[in-house]
Amino acid sequence: MLRVSRLSAGYGAISAVRDVDLEVRQGTLVALIGSNGAGKTTTLNTIAGLHKPSSGSVTVDGREITGWAAHRVVRSGVALVAEGRRVAPPLTVLENLELSAYSGRGSRTERRDELARVFELFPRLADRRNQYAASLSGGEQQMLAFGRALMTMPQVLLLDEPSMGLAPSIVDILFENIETLHRAGATILLVEQNAELALEVSDEVYVIQRGRIVSHGTAEEVRGSAEVMSALFG
Ligand code: ATP
Repeated sequence: MLRVSRLSAGYGAISAVRDVDLEVRQGTLVALIGSNGAGKTTTLNTIAGLHKPSSGSVTVDGREITGWAAHRVVRSGVALVAEGRRVAPPLTVLENLELSAYSGRGSRTERRDELARVFELFPRLADRRNQYAASLSGGEQQMLAFGRALMTMPQVLLLDEPSMGLAPSIVDILFENIETLHRAGATILLVEQNAELALEVSDEVYVIQRGRIVSHGTAEEVRGSAEVMSALFG
């Protein structure tokens, strides 16, 4: 479904990711884990069109989307839930969701059905549909950011550190939602600094260190590698 080949990107003279190869097959949940500054966010942002690659390619369902602008990437079926819960604070929950749907791929009927599905997945959002996003808690804003991405009807969902800054009880709820989506057939690439959490939910794991993929395998395989575990956990 999503294939990244020899992708490199950087900031001016600084190289942040180098020759990254990864694949997310349809219906799988793949985690990209690594320590602070390893290049996880740069990888996701480059896939999502927020950052230009210096070389390499990104394809979705065999279609080249390398270097496309972010709005075109969304229309091609790739949605990013960026780090730091991007929502529009002066709009209500419902307006946030409806607005996001327009940048996506769904027809009017599909958008209506997806809204019902988002409210089913996140009942808190349904309860608060007429409240301003600014008035939501951090966890609720993360759920709204998630809901906004789903409203674009993505083929592939990119999640950047969904657990960041949230209380453990909220993280649990969020990860239950991620697992629910996964069971329903969603294709997900998850970036997490909390490797333990990522290993628990994912089918496959890539480990990135200093901009390069250093290990790839099932969660069990990665967990079983002493080298990888010491790189991740010290
Ligand atoms: P984190 O978990 O801290 O977000 P990460 O694995 O997502 O880390 P990136 O944010 O992709 O890592 O950063 C990869 C490298 O690129 C780091 O060395 C970082 O310092 C550098 N970098 C990231 N953003 C910029 C920027 N805007 N300008 C210059 N260098 C940057």
